[in-house]
Amino acid sequence: MKKLSYTFSNSSTQFYFDADFSFLEKLVNKDNAIIITDENIFNGHGRKFKGWSAIVLNPGEKYKIQTTVDEVIEQLIGMEADRKTFLIGVGGGVVTDLTGYVAAVYMRGISFGFVPTSVLAMVDAAIGGKNGIDIGVYKNIVGTIRQPQFLLYDYSFLKSLPQTEWINGFAEIIKHACIKDARLFRMLEARTVKDFQKDLKGLATLIRKNVEIKASVVQHDEFEKGERRLLNFGHTLGHAIENIYELSHGQAVSIGMTAASKISRQLNGFDEVDRVMYLLNQYNLPTLAEFDKKRTMEVLKMDKKKASSAMNYVLLERIGKGTVQQIPMPQLEELINQL
Ligand code: ADP
Ligand code: ZN
Repeated sequence: MKKLSYTFSNSSTQFYFDADFSFLEKLVNKDNAIIITDENIFNGHGRKFKGWSAIVLNPGEKYKIQTTVDEVIEQLIGMEADRKTFLIGVGGGVVTDLTGYVAAVYMRGISFGFVPTSVLAMVDAAIGGKNGIDIGVYKNIVGTIRQPQFLLYDYSFLKSLPQTEWINGFAEIIKHACIKDARLFRMLEARTVKDFQKDLKGLATLIRKNVEIKASVVQHDEFEKGERRLLNFGHTLGHAIENIYELSHGQAVSIGMTAASKISRQLNGFDEVDRVMYLLNQYNLPTLAEFDKKRTMEVLKMDKKKASSAMNYVLLERIGKGTVQQIPMPQLEELINQL
């Protein structure tokens, strides 16, 4: 097992890599800890949860809503959870977002940690303290930023991860490469999802590299005043079309990254759009899509990245270097209509 520690504004988070789930017992007191997970993970890994109190949610983004928060809180009250109770989110991004949010509001805030079980949660969603829920088509419109005490990486969870979820995770990995790491981009070009699934050591190295990218961006700018915005590459348009069309997050972000690359070509002369699209396709992610531009613009107008009459849009200067640019809404509308 390898340990890394990142210090954020108010707290630090310990990352335990190549760990075994049973190590949780060393991190928390089993008697006052409650696990929050979902049915897929609970049913696929039942043995791991023996002896732990657990709240098991319905799986899926459509349950990342206030009703679920209320239900979890009622269960916590039923279990007599108090300010000393420790919550552990064991799951994908939906579970970790919900767990972090419940932990932030229950009794005005209790401690929590994560065991991410999807590639996406391991490299992205579980890192950085953002949590929250969706309201209608508006993704993550309610939430807080509050860091988990620890993240424990037990790669054996990935044995049951469906193929479509592997692909979702690689969308975020490609995102990290595009905005921050040309070397990682080239390494990804030389491989496929299948290669990583057969090479646990290579996968562990890849995950760790991505944790370092994400955690160091967050460390520099926890509350998203500047650099952290880069992590929204592909997500502005991505989020807007994700819920309108019920795409998977990876698919939506992939289409969003393609659009952002094309806008980068228009505005900054970025000349490697084809290379980005080729890599996305290599990882079975879509790059072309017909979508209702008018409806999409309506949703975009509610985006958190919007600043009065302009949008903070993440573009590429080159592969490995993202940049944030303010695009006035009328110009953005025109650029999107030209896609
Ligand atoms: P994210 O893509 O942000 O991680 P979810 O929490 O919705 O979002 O996870 C995606 C899907 O993958 C859900 O259906 C979840 O139950 C499932 N899942 C997550 N981890 C595993 C795992 N290790 N084994 C099987 N299914 C999993
Ligand atoms: Zn994402």
